[in-house]
Amino acid sequence: MYGWKEEKLIEEAIDNLAYSRVKRFYPTYICKVTGIPLENTFTYLLSLVEKGILILKWEIRCPDYDCNSIVARVDELSQYINKCIECRGCEEEIFVKKDIIFPVFEINEEYRIYIKNKKKQKNRLKAQ
Ligand SMILES: [Zn+2]
Repeated sequence: MYGWKEEKLIEEAIDNLAYSRVKRFYPTYICKVTGIPLENTFTYLLSLVEKGILILKWEIRCPDYDCNSIVARVDELSQYINKCIECRGCEEEIFVKKDIIFPVFEINEEYRIYIKNKKKQKNRLKAQ
C-alpha cells in the first residue's frame, strides 16, 4: 500500500488543481503527476471522497472510436447500467456497460475556496 509520502503527493496534486481552473480530473492524471500506481491512487482518491474533499462522478463515453463523446456524467450509475441511451454526438443508441464507464473526480467547492484563501494568505505573508 501507500504511506504518508504518497498521500501527501496526491494531496498536493489536488491542491494545485484546486487552485487552477480545472473543473474535474481523471485518476490517471494524478498517476501521471505523482508516479503512483493507479490502484493506490484510486483508493486514496476514494478516501478523499469520503472526507468530502472530492466528488466522484461517472462518465459514460460513446464506444464509437470516431465519436468518443461523453454521453452523460452522472452521480449514480444504477439507473443507467445495462440500459440504452442515445449519444448526442453520433445519435447512435448506446448500451451502457462497464467498459464505457469512467470515474472522474470533481473538487468540492468549499475545499477549493479554502485552498485559494490559504494560498492568498501565504502570498500576503511573503509580501510583508
Ligand atoms: Zn457517439
